[in-house]
Amino acid sequence: MTKDPSNYRQETALVRGGLQRSPNRETSEALFLNSGYVFDDAAQAEAAFKGENDNYIYSRYGNPTVTMFQERLAALEGAEACYATATGMAAVFASLACQLNAGDRVVSSRAVFGSCHIIVDQILPRWGIETVFVDGTNLDEWQAALSKPTHAVFLESPSNPMLDLVDIAAVSEMAHAAGACVIVDNVFATPLYQRPLELGADIVVYSATKHIDGQGRCLGGAVLADAAFMTERFMPFYRHTGPALSPFNAWIMLKALETLSVRVERQCDNSLDLARFLLAQPKVTKVCHPGLESHPQAELARRQMSGFGNLVTFEVEGGKAAAFRIADALRLIDISNNLGDTKSLICHPATTTHSRLSEEERSQLGISPGVLRISVGLEHLDDLKEDLERALAALP
Ligand SMILES: *Cc1c(COP(=O)(O)O)cnc(C)c1O
Repeated sequence: MTKDPSNYRQETALVRGGLQRSPNRETSEALFLNSGYVFDDAAQAEAAFKGENDNYIYSRYGNPTVTMFQERLAALEGAEACYATATGMAAVFASLACQLNAGDRVVSSRAVFGSCHIIVDQILPRWGIETVFVDGTNLDEWQAALSKPTHAVFLESPSNPMLDLVDIAAVSEMAHAAGACVIVDNVFATPLYQRPLELGADIVVYSATKHIDGQGRCLGGAVLADAAFMTERFMPFYRHTGPALSPFNAWIMLKALETLSVRVERQCDNSLDLARFLLAQPKVTKVCHPGLESHPQAELARRQMSGFGNLVTFEVEGGKAAAFRIADALRLIDISNNLGDTKSLICHPATTTHSRLSEEERSQLGISPGVLRISVGLEHLDDLKEDLERALAALP
């Protein structure tokens, strides 16, 4: 990039950040679909392997298209460094595994994405790491858990699927006092509406599969943090364990970032409207959306987010049978566990994304059998409302 992107506003960074034109002077970002690189002479190869020049070595380490995606995302996030990964889960796992040792301690909020829960609950303990879950909304529980030296704190806010919030600034302060590195899974808020690094977190992770691609095409992820951490701790782990993003997927993600703000703004507007619409339906017993005045953490939402995301979770009376009836009666909104897509998607968390949890764990998280989660897309709001109205009318 010839101009310094750091002064540009987010919308500009999304279109221009990280742009590196080849000598062909192409308008749009080029796709470098190559695994390896050649050197002018043996001495240049030697210097590259010693880290004395910035030649590319191998696409598991780095690739020009992937670099453009990483730099664009870093400019958007206001982070010093970014590494792109093949999936969101590779980003989450690498952010933890690159820095943890046997005997270390991790504290995590309980309401995290299903596979993140499995990493903390089942995989890390196999390597002698002590892991503790807390109710992320309860600062007393965080304080108690962080009264012992801790190495990493992992949290998601808003959480899936009940859209509970964690006070990122308060938890980061407690975590730092306990010596912990704070990792925030920022998928639900998107980089547009919540800036964990400014709130005190140390690392931000994304599933780029969600809003960043947002068009149901490919998987991807990213880890963002300060340059020292990324170079010293993250880079060696990334290079040698191989979670790199494919250049082709990076190119799709890079182009997808250009429209991110336009898509997500509309999706978020639609979701808040739909949340208000659901609130007025007699068969709906509960509506969760951080933008609603009735959200138990509405004040925190306004303090730490500048937008409220495109998800709305609601509960219908009649439990699982009623929830299934609604999902099956919808003609426009598809049944799918994905989210952030331009197409509106509905899922029944208790029998899908959270089916591996015990009944007790689900009830701790508020995921009752009547709960449905909608990821609101870009369809016309009236078509979405009519679809839901018809589905709700199918209830006895
Ligand atoms: C989807 C998701 C992930 C995992 O990302 P993948 O790209 O599916 O591997 C992690 N965290 C959250 C909050 C997600 O929604």
